[in-house]
Amino acid sequence: PEAITVGDLANRMAERATDVIKSLMKMGVMATVNQAIDADTAELVVEEFGHRIKRVSDADVEDALLKPVEVDGDAVTRAPVVTVMGHVDHGKTSLLDALRATDIAAGEAGGITQHIGAYQVTMSSGDKITFLDTPGHAAFTAMRQRGAEVTDIVVLVVAADDGIQPQTVEAINHAKAAEVPIIVAINKIDKEGADPSKAKTQLLEHSLVPEDMGGDVICVEVSALKRIGLEALEETILLQAEMLELKAVPDAPARGAVVEAKLEVGRGSVATVLVQSGTLKVGDIFVAGQEWGRVRALLDDRGRQIQEAGPSVPVEVLGLQGTPSAGDEFIVLQDESRAREIADYRQRKNREQQFTIAARGTLEQMFEKV
Ligand code: GDP
Ligand code: MG
Repeated sequence: PEAITVGDLANRMAERATDVIKSLMKMGVMATVNQAIDADTAELVVEEFGHRIKRVSDADVEDALLKPVEVDGDAVTRAPVVTVMGHVDHGKTSLLDALRATDIAAGEAGGITQHIGAYQVTMSSGDKITFLDTPGHAAFTAMRQRGAEVTDIVVLVVAADDGIQPQTVEAINHAKAAEVPIIVAINKIDKEGADPSKAKTQLLEHSLVPEDMGGDVICVEVSALKRIGLEALEETILLQAEMLELKAVPDAPARGAVVEAKLEVGRGSVATVLVQSGTLKVGDIFVAGQEWGRVRALLDDRGRQIQEAGPSVPVEVLGLQGTPSAGDEFIVLQDESRAREIADYRQRKNREQQFTIAARGTLEQMFEKV
């Protein structure tokens, strides 16, 4: 059965909690602000206060939200979204920095690099690639656990002087579990003792068969430090993307995923969102996990204000009412009351869950003492 805390009920009616408690007492129910009461009791209280009740079921709220809206617009090719993974110190951060520097827009005035958790590179050919700038398996797993499937391609970094290491294997397993194609970047080929062919042979043990060994895994030899092979790596990514036929409808309300979110002094809650379909615009109303908001400003990965962001474009969003979590889905809705309702509902549900967990903890502690 559904339940609501006395405090939440008071909030939703815009009444004082003490008045709600008094009203409950009249019915013979003793409850504190943080206690949950069942839906039937809540309904009686609501009527007592002369409000109208509208019960919203789980199905109602989640259905309306999670069901992708039918869009009849034309799907167009979108940029691939790439995650870089690999063993510690094999050069993930260096490679992301080096790739970022290949952006032809980088030389333009005002192009100050902002770390927003993702960036997009425009190649001289005009093709674009989006990189999630949060290397590491934790970020990838956290996103997937929340149901965000944002990565199209994994670039597996293997240091040519160190070969396959435990975290390399971990990364391979993550990519396989997500059914995301892997491109291997054999890094640090500038280093003495670098042995790319040894690294390739080691890949075989993990059923990744390099192309030149008769398989379908493309390996690209690079040096993040000396900026060697970066273009070849990008071309390989684009080739792989072409085979995946990545498409999205730009002419629709935006849907995407939160890549990163934080509360910043003077700016409020800020989230980096990767738009997956549709186009996000200034003024849009949205729900992001348990939070909602209205887009006050959009900033690109160079900190420039933009008016809209289409598929595969990472963008910093200002105008959130709270701070969502990485991996939360981000959905544009038509009206504010609906957005509020959904965020409210999710927060309430989350609190109930926390409450249950806390209660269970107390019970377990009690039993431990016995
Ligand atoms: P991460 O832990 O995977 O993010 O690795 P980093 O990018 O922090 O790199 C670890 C170390 O390897 C740093 O000292 C880098 O300067 C160095 N490094 C990264 N790429 C290269 C490369 O291509 N060649 C050489 N010689 N060193 C590199
Ligand atoms: Mg790093």
